[in-house]
Amino acid sequence: MKVSKQVVFHIPHSSHSIPKKMRSQFLLTDEELENELIKMTDRYTEELFTSGFTCTKVCAKVSRLVVDVERFTEDAEEPMSKVGMGAVYTKTSDQRVLRGIISARERQKLLKEYFFPHHHQLNKKVIQVIRKSNKVLIIDGHSFSSIPLLYEPNKNVNRPDICIGTDSFHTPVSFTIAFVNAFREAGFSVKINEPYSGTIVPLEHYQKNPHVRSIMIEVNRKLYMNENNGEKLPEFDAFAEKIQGVILKVLETNKVE
Ligand SMILES: [Zn+2]
Repeated sequence: MKVSKQVVFHIPHSSHSIPKKMRSQFLLTDEELENELIKMTDRYTEELFTSGFTCTKVCAKVSRLVVDVERFTEDAEEPMSKVGMGAVYTKTSDQRVLRGIISARERQKLLKEYFFPHHHQLNKKVIQVIRKSNKVLIIDGHSFSSIPLLYEPNKNVNRPDICIGTDSFHTPVSFTIAFVNAFREAGFSVKINEPYSGTIVPLEHYQKNPHVRSIMIEVNRKLYMNENNGEKLPEFDAFAEKIQGVILKVLETNKVE
C-alpha cells in the first residue's frame, strides 16, 4: 500500500545491531548485553509501523546502546544524561555501568559515524518532501516496556496501550485528536504524552517551520512481543495490520495526501 507522499516515518530504536568493533566498549557479558538489548530496543518497530507500506522512512542503523539518535548531542541539554542515557549511554536500564570511560574524542567519533549521518538523512528527506508537497508529516515510531524500567522518569505502572507524543508547535491538535480517536475506536487505551512526551523535529526546522508536522506513536510492547525473550507474539502480523490501518485511516480523514 502506498502511503501519502507527505509522510516520513522515523524509526530510531528498532535496530539491535552492535557493530563488532564497538563490542569492547560495553562492560557486560554477552548474556547481560542480550538482556539489555531486549529491554531497551523498540524491537520490530520498523516492521510494525511500515511493513505493509510503500513509504519514505529513516531508520537508525545501529542500536541505541551504540548511539541514541533521539537525544540531544550535548549532555547539558539532554535531561536523560542525568541517568547516564544521553546520546552515548554510560549506564544500563537498571543503572549499572554499561560502558568504560569514553573520551571526548571517542564520543565525537561515535556521533560522527552514527548520529550526524542519521539526522542528515532525516533532514534531507524532510526537505525533499516539503519541496514536492509543501508540507511534511513525520511519524516517529517507538515502543515501550509494559513495566516502567528503573531509568525511566515516569514510574506510573498504569501504562496505556498507545502513547501519542506531541509538540506544541509541530503537532496540529487535529492530528492528535484524530490519532487518539482512531486508536480508541480500534480498541486500544490511549494517553497523550504519557509515559513519553514529545516527537522528533529536525533542529533546522524546530519551532520555525509550521509546515514540518510531527507526531510520535509509542506502542506498549506487551501487545506484540514477549518482553522476556524478545520474540514476536503469534498475533504480531494481525497487530501490525491494525496499527497500520489506524495510520492510514487518520491520513485519509485528515487529507494528508
Ligand atoms: Zn524509542
